[in-house]
Amino acid sequence: MMHIAERVDCVLPSPPRAIFDKACKLTDVVDLTLGDPDLPPPLNVREAACRAIMAGKTRYSANAGLPALRRAIAMDYRRTTGREVDPDSQVIVTVGAMEASFLALYSTVEPGDEVVIHAPYWINYSQVVRSLGATPVFVNTRPEQNFELQAADVEAALSPKTRLVVLNSPNNPSGAIIPRQTLERIADLSRERGFAVLSDEIYDSLVYDGQKSDSIAVLPGMGERTIVVNGLSKRFAMTGWRLGWAIAPAELVSQMTKMQENIVACAPLPAQHAAIEALEGDTDNSYIRDEFQHRRDVIYQGIHAIPKLSCLKTPATFYTLVDIRKTGLKDYDFVMRLLEEKRVAMVHGSAYGGPDYDGFVRLAFTMKEERLMLALERIADFVQSL
Ligand code: PLP
Repeated sequence: MMHIAERVDCVLPSPPRAIFDKACKLTDVVDLTLGDPDLPPPLNVREAACRAIMAGKTRYSANAGLPALRRAIAMDYRRTTGREVDPDSQVIVTVGAMEASFLALYSTVEPGDEVVIHAPYWINYSQVVRSLGATPVFVNTRPEQNFELQAADVEAALSPKTRLVVLNSPNNPSGAIIPRQTLERIADLSRERGFAVLSDEIYDSLVYDGQKSDSIAVLPGMGERTIVVNGLSKRFAMTGWRLGWAIAPAELVSQMTKMQENIVACAPLPAQHAAIEALEGDTDNSYIRDEFQHRRDVIYQGIHAIPKLSCLKTPATFYTLVDIRKTGLKDYDFVMRLLEEKRVAMVHGSAYGGPDYDGFVRLAFTMKEERLMLALERIADFVQSL
């Protein structure tokens, strides 16, 4: 038998993938499991990728990405946050935000460190931290507080071993935004206690009702202690293009770039050219946010019409956590029975943060409205049958 390294063996299979795989084996399933937008990317962006391919712009780039793309990312970041960063030394282009966050953790976390993670959380964070021999320490947010992160809870989770605090605003899976005052308090703690912040802002363009999600990196002194992670996947509905980036202090970007050479060399070139067009061209992606805001309303009304279920009017992202506590079922039984009996796939809440979330299931509204309506009908039938 081949030896499997402990740092890989300790990584658990992804529960959402397991449900997705089970759903794939059944017929006529309405799949609300994956955070993969069903909308097309903007036309000019797709055309730019085709042009790059036809012009043979398909070779390796510098490890950190095309200089023109790094400039476009820095400009875009300045436009959206007001903060200036140096494109040559503070920006690295990666294979999705996923690789950006992996490289950031890989390059900063030592075995034995503690990494504080905003929960419920995107599962990769806990997995990668464990794989590095470090300990994830979760800061749970509560339904009665609209899943909003509380600075006092972050403070209570800190110890002398805290290396990094992972923030994800807007949050997957709750859709909650961290209010500016909370970011200010966490920034104070970061400066006082010396931990760094990984700020995953991948959903920052899917914010509804005129609200805004701020970047902690703009707060005084935080640019030098924060790794901002972002990418094209959600903002331009470009998940499969695998294009993300990190904005971080130069001394860290150079280390991440060195590691990138040893993993993937660079992000795919057609996707890099498409990203330049997405960020600098005449790109209208408002249809993506408008569509998800509309679906958010459909889901909010539909879930509230089902006795025993409720959910928040999620302020951002394309997820909502449906409160199933009144059904008397635990989350895993709920999702398995719903899948087997009514052919609707969702993910149990505890997958994103343990037993505190076993009264919830995550619904991703990445399907067309008529499929969502069908799912709502089936969920209503299921709840009635209990
Ligand atoms: N960060 C969060 C919080 C996510 O939910 C996801 C994808 O679901 C990612 C990062 C990964 O993004 P990308 O497709 O850019 O790798």
